[in-house]
Amino acid sequence: MSRSIALIDVNNFYVSCERVFNPKLVGKPVVVLSNNDGCVISRSNEAKDDIPMGASWFKYKDFAKQHDITALSSNYALYADMSNRVMRILNQFSLEQEIYSIDECFLDLSSFKRIDLLDYGQQIRLRIGKSTGLPVSVGIGASKTLAKLANHCAKKNAEFAGVCNFNQLNSTQLNRLLSSLEVQNVWGIGRKLAAKLKNDRNIHTALDLKQANPDTLRRVYSVVIEKTIRELNGIACIELEEPGLAKKQIINSRSFGIPVTDIHSLTEAVSFYISRAAVKLRQQQSVAGMVHVYIQTSRYRTGKNFYSNSYTVPLPNATDDTRVLTKSALMALQQIYRPGFYYAKAGVMLTAIQPKNGYQPDMFAAQEDSVKSDQLMIVMDVINGSMGRETLRLARQGFKRPWAMKQDSKSPSYTTNWKEVLSVN
Ligand SMILES: [Mg+2]
Repeated sequence: MSRSIALIDVNNFYVSCERVFNPKLVGKPVVVLSNNDGCVISRSNEAKDDIPMGASWFKYKDFAKQHDITALSSNYALYADMSNRVMRILNQFSLEQEIYSIDECFLDLSSFKRIDLLDYGQQIRLRIGKSTGLPVSVGIGASKTLAKLANHCAKKNAEFAGVCNFNQLNSTQLNRLLSSLEVQNVWGIGRKLAAKLKNDRNIHTALDLKQANPDTLRRVYSVVIEKTIRELNGIACIELEEPGLAKKQIINSRSFGIPVTDIHSLTEAVSFYISRAAVKLRQQQSVAGMVHVYIQTSRYRTGKNFYSNSYTVPLPNATDDTRVLTKSALMALQQIYRPGFYYAKAGVMLTAIQPKNGYQPDMFAAQEDSVKSDQLMIVMDVINGSMGRETLRLARQGFKRPWAMKQDSKSPSYTTNWKEVLSVN
């Protein structure tokens, strides 16, 4: 029996989030910039012809001014909060949900036999639109790969009105559509592989790939492409991933707004990153057995001016206590810090992650008072959850943070900070 898998994706997600709270931007060219306002990471349709995705902003700044293109610094707190709202609503349309990225998820609709899925897709769009103000596109197909492609069509072809269901097309119609899509639009076919397929195999479109021999291409390339071909032929090979699967590693890293030379600023930054990673660790009810820290100068510094190093500290007892994790991270930082360099970036990674309730502590290792520690961490998470993310924190994380990233044109934290809630005058 053929499956019905939907991929729901928010159109121009970051820009769309900004427009919800600033309707003046609707219908105007808008771009959102990455950390430090470095490059373009989201564009409204009106900006797509003039500004390429990923473009370095300094090259387009003047052009944007002349053409009245609005540029905004990224506001990740806002986007994450809007993402959570969207995903919660979508979960009501099917319990079998895989959140694939910040703005897209798969829903398995295979068991909805008597429902017109085109209609269901429109209901999804309406609900998300009404509840969050965000525009979404819905693609439906017999496999995840086809759902992804259908979503692409739903976005690009106005005739689909935002919902494209490949399962409701006959094979002639579907093949005609696939022949109009370049092969690099297929999920998992990167630009390099697409070039090889075109040059070496004469495979130019999604239809060409669908009709290619899976065994041959597996031998030449990989087992991944074989699966892709089968998926294009309507055989679902890639299952939806279980929701809430605990992460095996938690990473938090960021570039600094200004180069940092002193250990004091690095200590603040590393403590800050660790505390954020520790919150994520506790949210998934895990403990970490290893703390990894790295620092580096800018990639553009060369020779004697370049320095990059990392250090891993194994913990005698896996823990989720911010204080223990911070202490270990700062030990690692001491090992790798060298004075005289201009540091551009630092990061932390928690690994050797395991579920908290299945964890056996080492009876010979010195133990923090674990009950007390648990209570303190719960208090910290509860207070920060209700009163703002950093109401309670270790003093080490710093207060002024001169090293924090540049966000010259960031919109307010409309949904996550009471002080910045939208006011109607
Ligand atoms: Mg999107």
